[in-house]
Amino acid sequence: MWPEIKLIYSKTDGCCHLCGKKHRLSDYAVTWQREHHIPRANGGGDHIRNLFVACIRCNLIKGTLPSKVVRKRMGLNQVPLSRKAKLRIKRDQESNNTLIFLLILFFLMLFGMYQQNLLEQQQKNLS
Ligand SMILES: [Zn+2]
Repeated sequence: MWPEIKLIYSKTDGCCHLCGKKHRLSDYAVTWQREHHIPRANGGGDHIRNLFVACIRCNLIKGTLPSKVVRKRMGLNQVPLSRKAKLRIKRDQESNNTLIFLLILFFLMLFGMYQQNLLEQQQKNLS
């Protein structure tokens, strides 16, 4: 049970996925509990992908409502991400920016070659 609780906790760095409040890992079952993103009543399972940190109060409020609805009511637009997940997203964005830069460079080179070719043809036609 405990390794699973640690894994659930690490997904959001202990932040409630419904209101964003930060909890201490040691406060499991005191201030927070594991919460089924898709409620069991709606077919949600006990798989780690379906389990998140939630304040006991938030979990009671949620009941069988979709997480997105409750999150919106709490003023949260998205699931709080762990530091690791934020870093992964940042790294992905940086590599996308590099790829876009290389593509622009490639097309500028192609355009340069095209212009050069055009210039050479005009010079041939003149001579
Ligand atoms: Zn909460």
